[in-house]
Amino acid sequence: MTGLLTDADGSPVAIDNPGGTSPFLFVCEHASRRIPQAMGTLGLGPDALESHIAWDPGALAVSQFLSERLDATLFYQRFSRLIYDCNRPPEADAAMPSVSEVYEIPGNSGLTDEDRSARTQAVYYPFRDGLSNLIESRKRAGRPTILVTMHSFTPVYHGKPRSVEVGILHDSDARLADAMLAAADGTGFDTRRNEPYGPIDGVTHTLIEQGLKNGLLNVMIEIRNDLVSDETGQKVMAGYLAGLLGESLASLPQ
Ligand SMILES: [Zn+2]
Repeated sequence: MTGLLTDADGSPVAIDNPGGTSPFLFVCEHASRRIPQAMGTLGLGPDALESHIAWDPGALAVSQFLSERLDATLFYQRFSRLIYDCNRPPEADAAMPSVSEVYEIPGNSGLTDEDRSARTQAVYYPFRDGLSNLIESRKRAGRPTILVTMHSFTPVYHGKPRSVEVGILHDSDARLADAMLAAADGTGFDTRRNEPYGPIDGVTHTLIEQGLKNGLLNVMIEIRNDLVSDETGQKVMAGYLAGLLGESLASLPQ
């Protein structure tokens, strides 16, 4: 290990079920709230470090249930989005935010170019390159890939409750999102297109870089995190999403 991650911190990325036979490749950029040892607490208290600003609660667990259920590969980031938000390019302020929702993040204010570069090298590049290498190796092996990025969102944002339960997000390629929304029509959870975020919020970075540029079917899923706060909820949500993905796969030309 070089730079800000030590051997004790471990690898920035992890892969579950690399030999999974499903065309779906699940990706979780905000899987973890782990902070590298060298970064301390970023000046934040335990509440903030456990909150949605540090990670997407429940998103990794739902992704792991989906990975098992569909025999699909899952690729994810092992460090907090507060160190580097892997769904943002290095030049974006939001890659290392000094303010997130109602929290100020002291350890992210006044970062120098060197600080930003160290985080980008330690956390973002291994994620970006690891994912693109994985997609490339599947292609070389003749294995199809459908990119599904997995997120969760807070039920109350800036004091306002959100009623949407599942967001199906897309950028300029809406094929998979359209199929999923058609499958969701009138069933299960309150499922909406490009809510509570959409491309205008800059959240489709991974979809663009890894999905659109490789011509892959792709979608980003946002789950309201109060629905996946325990194992029961996580399994119900994984079952719902597995149904939507399966129906969509059957309806789309490969
Ligand atoms: Zn997220």
